[in-house]
Amino acid sequence: MVLNEQQLARYRRNILLAGFGPEGQARLLDSGVLLVGAGGLGSPAAFYLAAAGVGRIGLLDGDRVEVSNLQRQILHGTPDLGRLKAESGRDKLLHLNPELRVEVVADRLTEENAPALVAEYDLVLDCTDNFRTRFILNDACLRLNRPFVYGGVLAYIGQLMFVMPGKGPCFRCLYRSEPRGNMPDCSTLGVLGTVPGIIGTLQACEAVKYLLGLGDLLVGRLLTYEALTAGFTEVRLERDPSCPSCGKA
Ligand SMILES: [Zn+2]
Repeated sequence: MVLNEQQLARYRRNILLAGFGPEGQARLLDSGVLLVGAGGLGSPAAFYLAAAGVGRIGLLDGDRVEVSNLQRQILHGTPDLGRLKAESGRDKLLHLNPELRVEVVADRLTEENAPALVAEYDLVLDCTDNFRTRFILNDACLRLNRPFVYGGVLAYIGQLMFVMPGKGPCFRCLYRSEPRGNMPDCSTLGVLGTVPGIIGTLQACEAVKYLLGLGDLLVGRLLTYEALTAGFTEVRLERDPSCPSCGKA
């Protein structure tokens, strides 16, 4: 793929970067990333991937925009209330960068639809808000050998990790199974909007690095951000040999 004049102008600041160049930009334009969730994490991630020129972006979300979403889900505005988040999100991304292909999947991720959806993309961003969907995504990505970037937020804290099948630990190495009972979530404990803003932006950054083969990824490194102390901490994690998803058995 040879970049045209308009693309050379739009992506000038990318192309100037060491390790990027026009070849890197062409590679991004040829790449596809699936975002599972177009909410608090998916909003900044989608905006930055679209701005950077990731050529094909899948937005998977079956929910509609509610007024309580607008405090953090910056992909959606007040006129979008009641619309499908995937459609509202597509409009914003195409407004930012009309040459992209944005694929709308107005559905929940299930064990049935996950393999076919995941298989169509180079990389997946886990921008969900619940354990069940995370496990479905984790297992589908491992089976299909697709990397994904886990992200999670609650209250003033957020975390992320890059899951590279065959290399680092997976989400089930961290959490073996779905926790029993009512887990605290953002609808009970709240969430500061900038926290998913930061974590979703870091997920997009890891995505661009992976697609271009740049730098060191957060493989086996669980990065946690605490807004109240403005601190980042990193925990190194190993693969669990007895993990039901990625272990030896
Ligand atoms: Zn595992």
